[in-house]
Amino acid sequence: MGKVIAIANQKGGVGKTTTAMNLAASLAVLEFKTLVIDADPQANTTSGLGHDPKGIDTSIYECMVDGIDIQSIILKTEIEHLELVPSHIDLVGAEVEMINLENREEKMKGVIAKVRDKYDFIIIDCSPSLGLITINALTAANSVIIPVQCEYFALEGLGKLLNTIKIIQTRLNPDLEIEGILLTMYDVRLRLSNQVVEEVRLHFKNLVFQTIIPRNVRLSESPSFGLPAIAFDADGKGAVAYLNLAHEIAIKNGMGKTTDA
Ligand code: ADP
Ligand code: MG
Repeated sequence: MGKVIAIANQKGGVGKTTTAMNLAASLAVLEFKTLVIDADPQANTTSGLGHDPKGIDTSIYECMVDGIDIQSIILKTEIEHLELVPSHIDLVGAEVEMINLENREEKMKGVIAKVRDKYDFIIIDCSPSLGLITINALTAANSVIIPVQCEYFALEGLGKLLNTIKIIQTRLNPDLEIEGILLTMYDVRLRLSNQVVEEVRLHFKNLVFQTIIPRNVRLSESPSFGLPAIAFDADGKGAVAYLNLAHEIAIKNGMGKTTDA
């Protein structure tokens, strides 16, 4: 049974999509069979992994609402062992349409159940909201990764997110764990970056991943090539950091591998 990890933070621009793409690609490079689900109507993970959202008309949402078989919409990527459930802009209307459905928070869980045994990891890229689709993702997930940008107001909104996670644990998904808080866009030269690291570690202690993701231009350029950074700059700081994160997560989950990668 694959481990389902949601990447969530209702704040935009904190590195959710960058993490979903690059963590998933790194897990695949470590030869874990990995599926990324793009659950954001902005479809940045879809385009970042080389598929034009304009050519996509079926997403996780149609699986949730219209009963489309998820297996029929899974796409291959340039990375071996990495597959994608794409997104497209119509996801925007989804939340409104879903309001009257029975068990509306548990739709994604049911959809994912059909393919869980085919993968080692299933990574869900959430949109910057705590709306119904994100709640579905957190209900379907075994754990959540919370990216936090090493910037001003890093902790802003975290309380609300942690509270939402608590409510979901109480009402919908008692087994949901916090896989870790991930510090992103770290700049070693900036005092501020270092202060944020200190503050977040002080508050959240061992909930914080050891691995810190540096600010790295290759990570921001890579989506325009339709590739994760590891596919064209495997030795770059950004790609290496996400590979370290993949190792850290594998070890944490008792799936550590010894490789030279
Ligand atoms: P989110 O999905 O949370 O909105 P993104 O992953 O799209 O955030 O990141 C926001 C912007 O910051 C994007 O332009 C992305 O390329 C850039 N970015 C994310 N992480 C890094 C990083 N570690 N170094 C440099 N740029 C980054
Ligand atoms: Mg995003």
